Amino acid sequence: PATLGVLGGGQLGRMFVHAAQAMGFQAAVLDPDPASPAGRVADVHVATAYDDEQGLAQLMQRCEAVTTEFENVPAQVLASLAAHRPVAPGAAAVAVAQDRRAEKAHFAASARSSGIGPAPHAVIEAEADLARVPESLLPGILKTARLGYDGKGQRRVTRRDELAVAWAELGRVPCVLERQLALRDELSVIVARGADGAMVALPVQRNLHRHGILAVTEVFDGLLPARLAQQALAATQAIAAELGYVGVLCVEFFVVDDGSADGALVVNEMAPRPHNSGHYSIDACDVSQFELQVRALAGLPLVAPRAHSAAVMLNLLGDLWWRDGEPVTPDWAGVLALPGVHLHLYGKLDARPGRKMGHLTVTAADGHEARRVALQAAARLGLAPWR
Ligand code: ATP
Ligand code: MG
Ligand code: MG
Repeated sequence: PATLGVLGGGQLGRMFVHAAQAMGFQAAVLDPDPASPAGRVADVHVATAYDDEQGLAQLMQRCEAVTTEFENVPAQVLASLAAHRPVAPGAAAVAVAQDRRAEKAHFAASARSSGIGPAPHAVIEAEADLARVPESLLPGILKTARLGYDGKGQRRVTRRDELAVAWAELGRVPCVLERQLALRDELSVIVARGADGAMVALPVQRNLHRHGILAVTEVFDGLLPARLAQQALAATQAIAAELGYVGVLCVEFFVVDDGSADGALVVNEMAPRPHNSGHYSIDACDVSQFELQVRALAGLPLVAPRAHSAAVMLNLLGDLWWRDGEPVTPDWAGVLALPGVHLHLYGKLDARPGRKMGHLTVTAADGHEARRVALQAAARLGLAPWR
């Protein structure tokens, strides 16, 4: 069978491997950790750094095509792989997604066709940029341009005199200061785009974050105003098309008040890969985001996924494995006794607080029931409820 390769051995790589193997492919993973979650289920595990030439050569020899689950793979690595094998997404698109400066510039450009742009922001690259920050961006959030995730690499800045300290704390690396917006809601959209430009999408997701980390994703009919969902989808399609994107792309949106009943969209950021907010698609859709990633990479047809169930996904962070400083095993039997609960654990060995260890998806015939059961599951695990 043909072998598909993935750069990165985390949970996203693991779910990609599962989807590839289910469709008859072999899967190869490159990750420096010899015990990475994806590497342990792959057919081939190349345990080297992402920019190790020998490791990359070994991966290339074994694979027909290569994708990434990790957006911080040096874009140069993707570009040099692409000289020998199909690589999706491509280096240029990943380079934009890796850097908030380039990403926001791309969003601002695509706003000309979609009407949906990024939050007001300024780029901070030198001491002198701090003094030029307009008052309208405060209070704001200072974010490192590169390498941030799960809210890491961010500082809340209320007053101008706090800017220099925050920038120093972040290491004086290039940053973006964004105005802190009053969020009504957060949404995300996942699309898959083929080399021929054909695009399919998952239904629009509603996301709840806690402490900068995704906590809950809900997806069901009637959850979101149809106009907002349609606008988010159109903006995502415009962003993907203008990047010439091939593969699975997730775009995150904020909903803010603008005086209208539904509110207005602001585009936050994108991920050049499947996304945590799309994990529900494994259990609630007839084609998952990982199957779409496999299809796009292998040049197979992209068919529109159909959500056959209402879904609520809960992230399972390492905190669940600790109580009063003592390690505990979460009550899996308790949550699995509830109808429609699908448990996914990523096989990570070290349950650090804040670390994504797994998720569970509740599927049900309608959103009311999915939410009711998910709230019960949350209560049994000691997770906070949501509205
Ligand atoms: P991810 O793990 O999704 O890649 P990240 O570390 O790149 O996260 P962001 O998506 O920029 O971080 O921000 C994390 C969360 O912080 C957002 O989902 C949102 O809840 C909040 N947030 C970020 N920027 C703003 C803003 N300008 N105004 C209000 N809230 C914000
Ligand atoms: Mg991010
Ligand atoms: Mg985010």
